[in-house]
Amino acid sequence: MSWEKIVRKVTPYVPGEQPKDKNIIKLNTNECPYPPAPGVRKLLDNIKYEDMRLYPDPEASVLVDALSDYYNVPKDQIFVGVGSDDVLSMAYLTFFNSDKPLLFPDITYSFYDVWAELYKVPYKKIPLNDDFKINFEDYYEENQPNGGVIIANPNAPVGISEPVSELEKLIQHNRNSVVIIDEAYIDFGGESALPLIEKYENVLVVQTFSKSRAMAGMRIGYAFGSKKLIKYMQDAKFSFNSYTMNRPSLELGVAAIEDDKYFKDTCAKIVATRERVKKELSGLGFTFPDSKANFIFAKHERVSGEELFLALKEKGIYVRHWSADRIADYLRITIGTDEEMDKLIAFLKEYLA
Ligand code: PMP
Repeated sequence: MSWEKIVRKVTPYVPGEQPKDKNIIKLNTNECPYPPAPGVRKLLDNIKYEDMRLYPDPEASVLVDALSDYYNVPKDQIFVGVGSDDVLSMAYLTFFNSDKPLLFPDITYSFYDVWAELYKVPYKKIPLNDDFKINFEDYYEENQPNGGVIIANPNAPVGISEPVSELEKLIQHNRNSVVIIDEAYIDFGGESALPLIEKYENVLVVQTFSKSRAMAGMRIGYAFGSKKLIKYMQDAKFSFNSYTMNRPSLELGVAAIEDDKYFKDTCAKIVATRERVKKELSGLGFTFPDSKANFIFAKHERVSGEELFLALKEKGIYVRHWSADRIADYLRITIGTDEEMDKLIAFLKEYLA
């Protein structure tokens, strides 16, 4: 059919399953196993339902102000959106508009090539080395002319955190395109590239409330960059949809930021569980890159990734598995509560015995 020839066809990103059954142990989408800060709960009761007839503030000022105070970044250097997926998608639309390829690792967040396809951005995947680490020189513009770079740090799904000094060198060798650092998992032990936005006009650092702030369901993401970079993103956003963030998300997001002790305690709890689970998994014959995120990317010495994935699922324990080359034998296991992880380990002990 003729009209179908001109349809914008894409193969969509496939998010992890959100099963209806509440009894499963859900370790498949890197959510936080703990609830949001108590202040969020309190505020929920006071959200004025009659205000829902009004549009939200298109500038999302209350949330931008709270982020500005917390991270000590001027308001005009902050962009907010409906989860970091929305922020990243806007960044693609705004910055990646070159004939030269956008660069990202072959193993990384699987949305990166989907946005590139959607927006018709040429792209090139750069292989991680055999230890799943980034070879930064591959991204230098003198080695690979490019129309942009996007790096997740810590990288997903491998969990490795790369040093900011390496990211900085990459930026120094890439002054003619925008470099995005996706820090969705930064609060679990990585080193943030945020200070680099003061030194380099072409760096965008993206973070989210979905993991460390336990608010994946509210969809709040944000980015820091130079004034110029943020202005270009705002112009694109206001040409697309003025009202991205809904009223409750704006208010509840502020409440989440206000309780810093709860935030830090929650992150520390998840990190402690992660380190304990690493030891348990090693003892069971798993190997994995040293994760600084809220998940572990693990491979068993004997049993295939697919077999384990299915056996766990059968038992009501959901983890993530991809069948792509190089990673088909790995499982990405989100860090849940200690109790959930104990059940996972107990099952694996029995299954692998
Ligand atoms: N970046 C990475 C690397 C992720 O793993 C995710 C979670 N799927 C996101 C961004 C998007 O998260 P959100 O839209 O919930 O902020």
